[in-house]
Amino acid sequence: MANWDHTVDFLIVGSGSGAMTAALTAYDKGAEPLLIEKSDRYGGSSAMSGGGLWVPQNHLMEGVGIKDNPEDAWAYLKGTTAGVVPEERLRAYLEHAPQMVKYLTGHTQVRFVSLPEYADYYPNVPGSRPGGRCIEPASFHAGCLGDEFLNMRAQNPQMLIMDRIFMTVFEARTLLTHGSGWIALTMKLMARYWFDQPWRLKSKRDRNLAMGNALIGMLRRSLMDRGIPIWLRTPAKELVVEDGRVVGVVAEKDGRPLRIGVSKGVLLAAGGFEGNQAMREKYLPKPTKVEWSCANKHNTGDGINMGTAVGAAVDLMDDGWWGPTTVVPGEEHARFLVIEKSLPGSILVNKRGERFVNEASAYIDVVNAMYAKNTPEAPSVPAYLVFDSTFLKKYPVGPLLPGGRVPKKFQNYIKKSDNIEGLAAQMGIDAAGLRATVTQFNGYAQTGKDPDFNRGETVFDRYYGDEKVKPNPCLGPIEKPPFYGLETYPGELGTKGGLKTDERSRVLTEVGQPIPGLYATGNCSASAMGRTYPGAGATIGPSMTFGYIAARDALLAG
Ligand SMILES: Cc1cc2nc3c(=O)[nH]c(=O)nc-3n(C[C@H](O)[C@H](O)[C@H](O)COP(=O)(O)OP(=O)(O)OC[C@H]3O[C@@H](n4cnc5c(N)ncnc54)[C@H](O)[C@@H]3O)c2cc1C
Repeated sequence: MANWDHTVDFLIVGSGSGAMTAALTAYDKGAEPLLIEKSDRYGGSSAMSGGGLWVPQNHLMEGVGIKDNPEDAWAYLKGTTAGVVPEERLRAYLEHAPQMVKYLTGHTQVRFVSLPEYADYYPNVPGSRPGGRCIEPASFHAGCLGDEFLNMRAQNPQMLIMDRIFMTVFEARTLLTHGSGWIALTMKLMARYWFDQPWRLKSKRDRNLAMGNALIGMLRRSLMDRGIPIWLRTPAKELVVEDGRVVGVVAEKDGRPLRIGVSKGVLLAAGGFEGNQAMREKYLPKPTKVEWSCANKHNTGDGINMGTAVGAAVDLMDDGWWGPTTVVPGEEHARFLVIEKSLPGSILVNKRGERFVNEASAYIDVVNAMYAKNTPEAPSVPAYLVFDSTFLKKYPVGPLLPGGRVPKKFQNYIKKSDNIEGLAAQMGIDAAGLRATVTQFNGYAQTGKDPDFNRGETVFDRYYGDEKVKPNPCLGPIEKPPFYGLETYPGELGTKGGLKTDERSRVLTEVGQPIPGLYATGNCSASAMGRTYPGAGATIGPSMTFGYIAARDALLAG
């Protein structure tokens, strides 16, 4: 037997939401788990995220008057995944995701709130729901974590008001789309932050956590309640295999190798390869850049590479949780353009100044179109988000707050001109093409119909529209100078491809055999959602669910 520096029952590589869910499950089943984290902060992209989970038939749906059933959930998931994912994995998700949510709410500090109006992303696929399948974490008080809060990866600034103040997913929609009561809500959240004097003296970070920080905060508190450790600055380097079974991991601590042995198994939950330029170039559609990603930069494909080194197969490596992004000077991560592309009065165009997609459709579809239509004659990478001064006054755009003011530091980042032709020249796009597109789009705004791409036709498109704008909340004219443009990239929230796993989260070889003792979840495993994004929360939901499944399986099998 290898001479271990440390032994545990179940070792989890990573500290995102899937990793923590697995650790809690393993502990509550009687095992001793340990999490090791490469960076000096726990939480990964999960902590930076919106924290939403997409869970059909979750127990909160009934409370908000939305009915779901196994047939519809199955039809929708099967319809959207379109044969890419083995049926057993889809069935495992539908069965265990609501169980996992119930387990966490019944046995840990984790609480969720329903989002009854957050529609499934493909309302036209049979079995969809206009809301309720997406749940978000309840708010959580950072004080409950004590100083351990300071070790949590910070929320991505784009999910905060003025890069600082927390809002829930529900509140974010009201604020960003100017839904009813948005001014009072803004005042309330700002006052809560600024008048929190004792905490203001301690830290700039808001202690009323929401979104990903709330989720990770509640999970971390639950780990603390059980005394489950996370070792920070402890990257896993390789798997140790004996007689065909994974029996441990060689990690590194303080620059020294550390051998950790396991009795029940190893779960890889180390994220995707979004932070690894060489892997991006090897696998993703090109062009591609780490800078275009919104995700945790420490996710460099380590889990995937450790798995393949012991014979694991990979799948979906050319895919990502795509979305159009903007790279803001001086910021560590790109910002996801979620609402800007749906709100009335903006368009996304290619180098010819032509629209090429329904901007309000699911964000993965926007990037899939950017790549699919990117030809030498009509390049769409980057694409350009174009809008006018009315839009900039009313709505937030990337790092710019509503009001229409462009701070000096952003004057090169955002292009501005008094006329469409001048804007086109600054962005290097075809002026006649852009003029024609804008004229045509302004006509669509009047009729409320977009015959080219049907923008604003579905309940999902309209989720981030402006309900006060008629006849179509996603269509508005671009007419009032100055005009503005932003370069837009094919970014992501994380990569989607990774180790092939089965319905029990076991890592598989090329011939489909499970590797004993080895499990994977989250973005280091090939997505259980295949090439689609069925609804908001379709990455964290599976990451937590397959973490939950892995822990239970390891303890039963071990
Ligand atoms: C701004 C933003 C908003 C988002 N909103 C949502 C949302 O609302 N809903 C949703 O479903 N998804 C959302 N996502 C996507 C989602 O956050 C990620 O897909 C998901 O959290 C990935 O989980 P993971 O466990 O695979 O990785 P992570 O949460 O990133 O965890 C992986 C961890 O492993 C660590 N690690 C890496 N290598 C090693 C190693 N060798 N040894 C030890 N540790 C290692 C990393 O440092 C990291 O902490 C969002 C993402 C972003 C960036």
